[in-house]
Amino acid sequence: MDVSVVIPVYNEEGNLPELFKRLCATMDSLGKTWEVIFVNDGSQDRSLSILRDFHKERPDVVKIIDFNGNFGQHTAIISAFERVSGDIVVTLDADLQNPPEEIGKLLDKVNEGYDAVGGYRKQREDNAMRKYASKIVNFARDKMTSIRMKDQGCMLRAYKRSIVDAITKTNEHSMFIPALAYTFAANPTEIEVEHSARYSGESKYNLYKLIRLNFDLITGFTLMPLQFFTIFGFLASMGSMALVCLLLFRRFVLGSEAEGVFTLFAILFMLVSIVMVGIGLIGEYIGRIYQVVQARPKYMLRELIGFDK
Ligand code: UDP
Ligand code: MG
Repeated sequence: MDVSVVIPVYNEEGNLPELFKRLCATMDSLGKTWEVIFVNDGSQDRSLSILRDFHKERPDVVKIIDFNGNFGQHTAIISAFERVSGDIVVTLDADLQNPPEEIGKLLDKVNEGYDAVGGYRKQREDNAMRKYASKIVNFARDKMTSIRMKDQGCMLRAYKRSIVDAITKTNEHSMFIPALAYTFAANPTEIEVEHSARYSGESKYNLYKLIRLNFDLITGFTLMPLQFFTIFGFLASMGSMALVCLLLFRRFVLGSEAEGVFTLFAILFMLVSIVMVGIGLIGEYIGRIYQVVQARPKYMLRELIGFDK
């Protein structure tokens, strides 16, 4: 099998028919053997029954992994990675923000010898808040990790099978697939791809899920936040030591004083709140360790459709 296309689906009933039509048209025209693995990530709408119809219509190419709950986009993709048969694996979103017509371009790049080909969005069609937040996270990721990519949020990507197999062997619970693929790739590259507004429905990421995802990205790939924190703690304790000396000196030379109490409070509050951030930060890393130590399954299957095994 030449190509496996992997698509996570969470309540995408309005997008699936159009997506499937355009995907089949594109893939059939490439003259390669292909399959598409849809992962139903606990949809509560008609997505699953639509996917079943696709399987009836094209049993030669359609496979379905049905989760018994919502385990998240990246976990859904991993479950498909564990079951792909293609030499090249392509990921894309189900909402038609990533035009399937761009797949050919990605495959050409892989065939030139790149083992991970990322897409970056020419003109991103999302709201201003998302674009702005994305810029900040891209910047933070660029400064803090060794991952160099233009557009980490774009899921229209192609990988050689060896990269996908390496990803499935990692034991982490919360992962960020494009970044993980980048760390395993010998020669990753990026190409410009089109981006459209969501065809139907709404984004499945609320603010909380977005923050979680981006914490996974940063804590999964660098210890720098912890190191910054230690350095800051060190500097702050030097500063407070100097302040204590100064106050002691004033106390003995000039006598006791009561002014400046509120300044001290302000400094204290600031330091306490920074300590709280630090505790939260350590918690982020411990939480990741905890999940790995528990070794619970990353997802639960209800059914596999179209797989031989
Ligand atoms: N998705 C998923 N599980 C989730 C959230 C999203 O499988 O818990 C899928 C969703 O159906 C879509 C893709 O992941 O195919 C990207 O989601 P979305 O378009 O909502 O994200 P955005 O484009 O807003 O970042
Ligand atoms: Mg989307």
